[in-house]
Amino acid sequence: MDRKFIISIDGASSTGKSTLARKISNLLKFIHIDSGAMYRAVTLFAKNNHLLSNNLVDKNALIKLLPNIKVDFVKNNIHLNDTDVSKDVRDENISNFVSRVAEIPEVRSFLVTKQRNFTINHNVVMDGRDIGSVVFPNADIKFFLHADLNIRVERRYNELKSLNSNICKEEVKLNIIQRDYTDSNRQDSPLIVPENAISIDVSEFDINSLFEFMMKKIHSRLSQ
Ligand code: C5P
Repeated sequence: MDRKFIISIDGASSTGKSTLARKISNLLKFIHIDSGAMYRAVTLFAKNNHLLSNNLVDKNALIKLLPNIKVDFVKNNIHLNDTDVSKDVRDENISNFVSRVAEIPEVRSFLVTKQRNFTINHNVVMDGRDIGSVVFPNADIKFFLHADLNIRVERRYNELKSLNSNICKEEVKLNIIQRDYTDSNRQDSPLIVPENAISIDVSEFDINSLFEFMMKKIHSRLSQ
């Protein structure tokens, strides 16, 4: 392979993007970048610096502090300023604010530059909302995953229940609906089906058959 190969997987929350991206990257020995975790890390930074309150983000202060933020992946775990924050970024409070942080154009361009830099030396599977549309419009293969809301709620609820037994399904549903709305309606890089993406309704598959289906598509692209 004489150039880096890029696989993008976009879609709304809890469609299984990260799970599939991880499986694909393990099999192909590509690196996996969970771009949502990067937006979550910036949100955690804002929280730690007291920039989140009453559903509002202190945008100007956050923009000024962006140069102080270091976001990396170490063995697939997200690190914020050299600390592993992979558990903290899944906190409900972060989920409630992340879409507000992700709609700030300066935050997006700050993270998009980092996302592009990951592909300088590596073949990459990257999942997110705007990977095939904005970050890598020329990705070698693009997937877009979608699923029925109730299936996504069930999935996210079961995931979160293992971390916090007090979690309420209605709250999970509300958070997903709110994030879908903010992510799809923001001005900068909204969630859309990227041009030339293979669009898949994941409700129709179990995870293994979906993985096999995607791998077939990837292999046929790799052999071209
Ligand atoms: O993928 P995950 O649900 O963890 O993403 C958290 C949030 O980060 C999304 O709801 C969205 O607001 C933001 N995001 C984004 N662009 C990406 C990835 C995530 O705006 N490429």
